[in-house]
Amino acid sequence: MKWFIDISYVAVAVVFVLGLKAMSSPATARKGIVWAGWAMIAATLVTLFWPGMQNFALMIVAMVIGGSVAWWSGKNVAMTDMPQMVAIYNGMGGGAAAAIAAVEFARGEMHGGMVALLAVLGALIGSVAFSGSCVAYAKLQGIMKKAYRFPMQNQLNVGLAAVVGILGLAIVTATDPDGWAIVLFFVLSLALGVIVTSPIGGADMPVVISLLNAFTGLAVGFEGYVLGNPALVVAGIVVGASGTLLTQLMAKAMNRPITNVLFTPMTGEAQGGEAIEGSMREMGALDAAATMRYANKVIIVPGYGMAVAGAQHKVWEMSQLLEEAGVEVVFAIHPVAGRMPGHMNVLLAEAGVPYDKIFDLEEINAEFSLSDVALVIGANDVVNPTARTDKSSPIYGMPILNADQAQNVIVIKRGKGTGYSGIENALFYKENCSMLYGSAQQAVGEIISHVKSMEG
Ligand code: NDP
Repeated sequence: MKWFIDISYVAVAVVFVLGLKAMSSPATARKGIVWAGWAMIAATLVTLFWPGMQNFALMIVAMVIGGSVAWWSGKNVAMTDMPQMVAIYNGMGGGAAAAIAAVEFARGEMHGGMVALLAVLGALIGSVAFSGSCVAYAKLQGIMKKAYRFPMQNQLNVGLAAVVGILGLAIVTATDPDGWAIVLFFVLSLALGVIVTSPIGGADMPVVISLLNAFTGLAVGFEGYVLGNPALVVAGIVVGASGTLLTQLMAKAMNRPITNVLFTPMTGEAQGGEAIEGSMREMGALDAAATMRYANKVIIVPGYGMAVAGAQHKVWEMSQLLEEAGVEVVFAIHPVAGRMPGHMNVLLAEAGVPYDKIFDLEEINAEFSLSDVALVIGANDVVNPTARTDKSSPIYGMPILNADQAQNVIVIKRGKGTGYSGIENALFYKENCSMLYGSAQQAVGEIISHVKSMEG
């Protein structure tokens, strides 16, 4: 039987990697997720035949409860609540890895060596990922409203990590580790996750979730080694490596080193930035509709506000109307638009926008200067030109979409609210820029009715 399990695990590992590859393009992403899901089901079923496996009733009850909760929440989650859903699922993975280690400790069969070291490391990283993800979930869900900063926060982080490390080492080297030392080790590891994530502002959470996701992968990989289970090792490595890459990409796209996210969190209040001169110009929906209806090319820049308003369907309806009138309409997506990687791509795909109309920053940036209108919908930081020039700005150096280079810029937002970085946007004060105030859903709805009433 063992040979069958081993072969199945290899097949599962191959499907995981192929699934991940398919997820790298929006056109094949759904297929990739389905493949990886089936592979996970196969790996779980095959594991039930592991020699010496017991407690089938308990396992089946746990799988039915877990599977039902996941199915229900997956079906019902709103697209804007996706980041917290990812956070809590990720936390469960880390918690499961830590629980595996706890069971192995309780069996008392680990006496030093590589296995004990990896079990302790997995327990530490898994516990941090679990409690940290719970904090991330609470913040994104609005349950925990403030960022809590402890006195001497950074020293506290390092001190606690050192205590947990020493305790872990004592457990690894002891011939018969004390039960209370193990309990204390888990309690302090969980506390470390809470203390490190508590001061981080809600808007930085997606980067932190991605980092905790990489941690979970690592913890699962370590515990896979402890159990001698190759499928867990491969799944853990894949998650750990992709989570690390994603964290790096997000930090780079925000021009914020990961150490900066963790140790000098943004407060959400304006920090730095040169004063901007001039005033904003307001525009009505009728003028906005006319400017786009008689344009040759319109580039739409969606941002967090479009997600909050859930305006993606209306935006696509408006684009189709404009296209029917002979206007070329495309979408420009900044890598950190919204609040999670791929946020805008997911929303636009949900609304039915074809993939060949959606362009990344590098692909589209040269096109803005050739377009008649850049329509910015609920985006702010990702089109702020001060990122290019103002060294005192917190977003200095972040690559931005060149919306300011279009002949006309129309910005839809509710008022004078700042974006995630909390700073003013120089684009809104430029001569070629007009503000159309209102919630994205309602403002785009008004543009649609005006476009419909215009003759060809
Ligand atoms: P921003 O957060 O910069 O701006 C969003 C704008 O949307 C606000 O200025 C707000 O203005 C407007 N808005 C809010 N609600 C509505 C609504 N209902 N209708 C219309 N407009 C609305 O968003 P961007 O997408 O431009 O930038 C994302 C930011 O988030 C970047 O700074 C990025 O670094 C950060 N970030 C992104 C992550 C990611 O993975 N994508 C992760 C972590 C951070 P007003 O209140 O006036 O309406």
